[in-house]
Amino acid sequence: MKVGVLALQGAFGLHEQVLNRIGVAAVQVRTPEELVEVDRLVIPGGESTAISKLLDANGLADPLAERLADGLPVLGTCAGLILLAAEVVDGYPGQRCFGAVDAAVRRNGYGRQSESFHALIEVEGWKSAFPGVFIRAPVIESAGDGVEVLASLDGVPVLCRQGSAVVSSFHPELAEDDRIHRWFVEQE
Ligand code: GLN
Repeated sequence: MKVGVLALQGAFGLHEQVLNRIGVAAVQVRTPEELVEVDRLVIPGGESTAISKLLDANGLADPLAERLADGLPVLGTCAGLILLAAEVVDGYPGQRCFGAVDAAVRRNGYGRQSESFHALIEVEGWKSAFPGVFIRAPVIESAGDGVEVLASLDGVPVLCRQGSAVVSSFHPELAEDDRIHRWFVEQE
């Protein structure tokens, strides 16, 4: 299995490190040719507006939309969640969101950089909580019936799945805990 990490901007290096640590070959994706080669994709945190513009500039937006529509398994964290949502409440005009998960998100909904925080996330069926790191994280303001909420914080979804798309508003690559990456690569 070849797992791609979208490497246009943001925290892609850390995702690569976690994947390598759990024995999965991870490759950086910056071009349509590289996207074709991968069986799964991680869209990292960073700045969703910048990633959106770079997807357009690199000719990746349409090929990515097609692969997502074909059911490419994808993990989107923080800015990655914003890109995979169906609606960005406060995006810039023309900001890409691919609608892999039927959710509306608000950028920086948990506050600014200085309001970043850690929280223990109880994931359904997991024996112990996952250490969630929230950095200028998006708030999932609403989610459609097709969205499976796997974990919430104060009643707000923070880890969700719809079909082959998994999204988190926090940064699992910053936790010394591989469970979300392992679970993502092991999903059918
Ligand atoms: N607030 C950022 C955005 O709008 C996301 C922050 C992050 O990925 N840590 O893209």
